[in-house]
Amino acid sequence: MLKENLINVENNIMKACEKAGRNRSEVTLIAVSKTKPVEMLQEVYDQGIRYFGENKVQEMCDKMEVMPKDINWNMIGHLQTNKVKYIVGKTSLIHSVDSLKLAEEIQKQAIKNNVVVDILVEVNIANEETKFGISKEETIQMVKDIAKLDHIRIKGLMTIAPFVENPEDNRLYFREIKQLSVDINNQNIDNVCMDILSMGMTGDYMVAIEEGSTMVRVGTGIFGERNYNK
Ligand SMILES: *Cc1c(COP(=O)(O)O)cnc(C)c1O
Repeated sequence: MLKENLINVENNIMKACEKAGRNRSEVTLIAVSKTKPVEMLQEVYDQGIRYFGENKVQEMCDKMEVMPKDINWNMIGHLQTNKVKYIVGKTSLIHSVDSLKLAEEIQKQAIKNNVVVDILVEVNIANEETKFGISKEETIQMVKDIAKLDHIRIKGLMTIAPFVENPEDNRLYFREIKQLSVDINNQNIDNVCMDILSMGMTGDYMVAIEEGSTMVRVGTGIFGERNYNK
């Protein structure tokens, strides 16, 4: 079943790339495996997937221990400062940096571990109260502030678009984020390159790719629905 799901997602990614005149290699598929057992992760891994996304520190660390070592682990969920120490040096990318305080803690732990940590700044593009992330207006200043931390490399922006029935409803939000990343790049801030745009989930990743996404985070589309009351 997972194999068919993956083929389906892969076909959709290729279709969206083609439609947008983009190369398939510009888009990384992250399999969002939160709440799913390692057996299922292994099945997806065996199909060639090497990018996984998790939203809880403990769960990610547990899975890291038992899964193969060549996986790129992506922290995509809200990160509390007191948990940063458990993942610095172990994740390939933290997508969810939404405050200077969090960035400063990442810097502190990065120095301790003698590593440089790749991060994305999370933007709450629709200003939804239920979501983390900083507003579009605050983003450039936040990027400038975080850029001063020399053990952090800002690689781009991440956003979680609103939950919508029709993915077309999110197109303008994706376009806004893309434009914002272009604007930031044009400022030539030291230590900042907007290479990555992490946007698009099961419901809207094709539209996100058409609007310039370079990382899509797909959970349900690969692993099926999540059951939170086990
Ligand atoms: C759970 C989650 C996803 C995946 O959502 P699906 O709709 O299941 O694809 C993507 N990004 C973030 C930040 C998530 O928490």
